[in-house]
Amino acid sequence: MYFDNAEGMVFRPPSEANSLILRVTIGCSHNACAFCAMYRGVQFRARPPEEVAALIAKAARYWPDARRIFLADGNALVLSADRLLAILAQLKAAFPKLARVTCYGGPADILRKTPAELAALRAAGLQIIYLGVESGDDGVLAAIGKGATAAEMVTAGRRVLTAGLKLSVMVILGLGGEERSREHALGTARVVSAISPTMFSALTLMLHEGSPMRAATDRGEFRPLSPYALLQELKLMMEHIDVAGPTIFRSNHVSNFLPLAGTLPHDKAKLLADIDEVMAVFKDKTEPTYNDDGPF
Ligand code: SF4
Repeated sequence: MYFDNAEGMVFRPPSEANSLILRVTIGCSHNACAFCAMYRGVQFRARPPEEVAALIAKAARYWPDARRIFLADGNALVLSADRLLAILAQLKAAFPKLARVTCYGGPADILRKTPAELAALRAAGLQIIYLGVESGDDGVLAAIGKGATAAEMVTAGRRVLTAGLKLSVMVILGLGGEERSREHALGTARVVSAISPTMFSALTLMLHEGSPMRAATDRGEFRPLSPYALLQELKLMMEHIDVAGPTIFRSNHVSNFLPLAGTLPHDKAKLLADIDEVMAVFKDKTEPTYNDDGPF
């Protein structure tokens, strides 16, 4: 639920569908990932304390029993620990039934915070940080302009978990295109294994109109994977993932056909068998193809 009329569109993770969305920042302070068109044209700003306080008061009038709150937009964790602690205290006072607060955080936002600051945020009610790792391959990370290396992703992810927070990691299948599919799969498996996150989602590259990656594709400079090659990439990634766990895994790749879900490492063999099953169905889909909604 959303009580706001600030500029720009609202995005949130699928798992926050039933949460109150509170936009403490507008846009994304990084706003440079080549595949992302979410906040293009939106000037990033941190909302002033009085604006956030008014927003919280308004939301509490509409939904006093809210139990879950997602702090938006693209990287609310960019705010200083002190600012976030003040917001968390306000939320605690305004929503007596509040059970969890979550937000997106980029690698730089996490690494700017000390382990003690992250632990303080956890103690104040922040429960889950969603981190877009996207890839564990430095070549892919550089090509998409993520602004972090694979090693920094691991340090950031481990810091969140060590502070007692839950960490939800997203990676994007097909992000290396045909050229770096193997490196992308193996590097991502390495990074996910080293982090061993609470949750791990494998999304599929969508080439949105307005994104630099879509433009590169239209110019023939980026060659997207076929549906079958995406499954091959997912299989290679899964084969090499070795998390301590338990890590909840989800993939939207074939969600209309066979949703992939399980807990790693326990369900790894079953997940690989599921991927094989889908690959048999998609064995003829070997042409690179895409639309705004993904590769199918
Ligand atoms: S993917 Fe995330 S960090 Fe990158 S530009 Fe989009 S919102 Fe910002």
